[in-house]
Amino acid sequence: MSDAPDELGLLYYLDAARSAEQRAYMAELEAARICVFCPEHVASHHRQPIEWRGEHWYVTRNDFPYAGTVGHYLIVPHAHVTSFDELPDAAGAELWAIKRRLRERLAPLATATVERSGDMRYNGGSVAHLHTHFVALDATPEQTVRFKVSAPGADG
Ligand SMILES: [Zn+2]
Ligand SMILES: [Zn+2]
Repeated sequence: MSDAPDELGLLYYLDAARSAEQRAYMAELEAARICVFCPEHVASHHRQPIEWRGEHWYVTRNDFPYAGTVGHYLIVPHAHVTSFDELPDAAGAELWAIKRRLRERLAPLATATVERSGDMRYNGGSVAHLHTHFVALDATPEQTVRFKVSAPGADG
């Protein structure tokens, strides 16, 4: 017997929250079994509007943008998957086109993307539903932007 309450399994990894506010919100959604990135919930629970919808993905801003970025977008598949390789190759092509459009629109000095797949306990993620973080960067960030992509190591 699984310890997961339903077929979605664990939706949030609370230890990956970056603020008390975010952690409390994630705990509330987990208790209600609401995946914030699933299409039926995103409009009512994600605070930023959906700016673009494609065949495989939609684009929205992060509710909790990273300090030091000049733009922080989330590119999210419509399907509730937890790993990139659950999507068809055509989704990869659409993702590339989305990244190109965001870069052209934002015209930053540089960009970075981070996409975690698999078990949240080991990839540093906070939401099980796959998503690509797209950040736009300029010359004078208020702080260095760092993405965690693993469980805490021996160094903490
Ligand atoms: Zn979902
Ligand atoms: Zn994330």
